[in-house]
Amino acid sequence: MERKPEWLKIKLHVNDNYQELKQMMRSKTLHTVCEEARCPNIFECWANRTATFMILGDICTRACRFCAVKTGLPTELDEAEPERVAEAVEQMGVRHAVITSVARDDLNDGGAGIFAATIRAVRARNPFTSVEVLIPDFMGDRSALQTVMDAKPDILNHNIETVSRLSDRVRSKAKYHRSLELLQRAKEMQPQIPTKSSIMVGVGETFDEVVEAMQDLRQHQVDIVTIGQYLQPTKKHLRIDRYWHPDDFAKWKEIGLELGFSHVESGPLVRSSYHAHEQVKSAEKQ
Ligand code: SF4
Ligand code: SF4
Repeated sequence: MERKPEWLKIKLHVNDNYQELKQMMRSKTLHTVCEEARCPNIFECWANRTATFMILGDICTRACRFCAVKTGLPTELDEAEPERVAEAVEQMGVRHAVITSVARDDLNDGGAGIFAATIRAVRARNPFTSVEVLIPDFMGDRSALQTVMDAKPDILNHNIETVSRLSDRVRSKAKYHRSLELLQRAKEMQPQIPTKSSIMVGVGETFDEVVEAMQDLRQHQVDIVTIGQYLQPTKKHLRIDRYWHPDDFAKWKEIGLELGFSHVESGPLVRSSYHAHEQVKSAEKQ
């Protein structure tokens, strides 16, 4: 495996603000993807008042080969969680809240009800905060998706994660076409709500396959795409096939904009929620 290239090495600046937010998360027993996934952008994002909350616990019913989240059978369903997330958003002064979850295939609605309650609770306390939800596929359940769309998030995000050919190998239980179908349905249910998806590169795809995945997303009326480099969380996880060069990310961005996305965030350190507050603005201009 080649060594980590220079463009992926970033300096971490731990400041008081960061420590304060970290303590607040613990006191409210909340989980953030920023911390769980050891996201390299955490200092920048938290300074910019963007955070990704992970609801519905920290144990996932699936086991994707790239993901650091624990797998198992979750036992709890915390009805008070939406309110705690809303309070945390208020205390942090979050301007753009991203709410995601583990996959809860053990629940009848896949957790859609808690997603909807969280959107409403965050809105009620924070009328000027935009809310993006990054949802699991709910096993293709239309009514679960409807529950989330009825709560009217500012952005509906669902990740295809990788290109069609690698989907079954990289993701657990999720299906490439089911994910595209979910994104299309979301648009049909609430045409005014921007839809978004992410592609993680460096797991064995070719340049053109990434372009094809972007074309598939556009064919399913997706508005926003993000593309970022996969980083292996531990040695047990899927190994990195290659580090794509920043110039490749720039080319994908150019192609994505030509394909008609309202916003393309593409770069080695880009994560699904990176610079997400800017995406709301560009989607509004469309
Ligand atoms: Fe958190 Fe997303 Fe920013 Fe990473 S990119 S720190 S997960 S908000
Ligand atoms: Fe991780 Fe999501 Fe896969 Fe669960 S479904 S293992 S949280 S990527």
